[in-house]
Amino acid sequence: MNSLDPRSLIAMGGLMALVMGIVLGFTRRYYPSSILGLGYWAMAPAAMLGAAVFFGVPAPWFPEVWRWIANGFILLGFVLFHVGFRRFYGKPARWYRVLALYGLTMLVLAWYGGGEPSYRIRVAVVTGAIALVHMGSLVFLFRNGNRNFPVRMVQATLGLHLAVLLVRLQTVLSEGDVGNLLEASAIQTFYLGAYVLSGLLLSIGALLMATDRVRTELEHMATHDALTGTLNRRAIVGFCEEEHARSVRYGHPFSLMMMDLDHFKAVNDTYGHQHGDQVLVHFVDCARAALRRADRFGRYGGEEFLALLPNTALDTALPVAKRIHTALSSGHPLDCKVSIGVTSWKGKDDSLDAMLGRADAALYQAKAEGRNRTCTG
Ligand code: GH3
Ligand code: MG
Ligand code: MG
Repeated sequence: MNSLDPRSLIAMGGLMALVMGIVLGFTRRYYPSSILGLGYWAMAPAAMLGAAVFFGVPAPWFPEVWRWIANGFILLGFVLFHVGFRRFYGKPARWYRVLALYGLTMLVLAWYGGGEPSYRIRVAVVTGAIALVHMGSLVFLFRNGNRNFPVRMVQATLGLHLAVLLVRLQTVLSEGDVGNLLEASAIQTFYLGAYVLSGLLLSIGALLMATDRVRTELEHMATHDALTGTLNRRAIVGFCEEEHARSVRYGHPFSLMMMDLDHFKAVNDTYGHQHGDQVLVHFVDCARAALRRADRFGRYGGEEFLALLPNTALDTALPVAKRIHTALSSGHPLDCKVSIGVTSWKGKDDSLDAMLGRADAALYQAKAEGRNRTCTG
């Protein structure tokens, strides 16, 4: 057998679009509202379903109009996917372009359907318009998309369908007889199947993109402090454990820096809690700027922070601490003072707990010696 019954294929495509539309609709309802584009992605399969109905059900009247609506729906489906991709990455939909392409295509289709009937031109126009939309989506995703599996899957789907569409366009333009999509021939089955499959794969790809975004957001929330955006205690301690294990294995040193803002309670009491929050954010900005790329920085507790300096001995860590003190005395209205306790790994018998204990003791020595300084332990 080298062909499938086109109407069964269309019915199957319609059914899959219905299921994907429902799934994406629920996804939009239950996923965080910070994930944009889901509404358009949910409407895209709905448009595909519309196309399946108008393609698959024999026209009771005005078959040309019936076919015109079907083509309108299929183009709309791919346009909605495109708009969804843009919104997902926080970019505006650029409606003027979308509507211009859509309106023009529908006008030409109406003209060559009713005014001066030409099936060949209609096929060329629809195929070309969808190819343009796919090209737009592909370029956009290559420029803005993540490099993860869902995006790669969407790009592969768009690329393959684009290739099929271009072959069809070339055939339509070069040959007189283009054949009807509803013919039970192998080539028409292939074209029709490509529509059905790309609609399905784009829906699944969109769903995976949204799910991946939720996972990333949750992961970020679980490892970062909401106020300052820096690592939270669990995450920074996790990095310290990893670095400690690496040092035990390879023998290179690392340093820890425990920091506590000086008289921070007085800052809150004098200027208010909100001002205190701003001071914390400013402190994090200054500390991060003073640290190096490979260093890790996290909030250990209220106004206490921990920095991990991989591959760093004590004598190299001290200038970093000095840079933090300097950065906090630039004259900025949110500048504050900080006490720092620094310690370094002392060899294979030195545990992380012992290091944290020494950093803490050094910090309290700095407090006892008058604050706004660094001590070592
Ligand atoms: P010291 O120099 O000895 O460290 O004195 P201190 O006042 O900084 O220390 P203390 O432990 O007495 O006070 C810490 C204050 O930090 C008390 C607490 O309300 C405040 N704090 C903790 N977390 C936050 C926060 O997220 N925002 C604000 N604004 N304040 C916080
Ligand atoms: Mg303090
Ligand atoms: Mg404290």
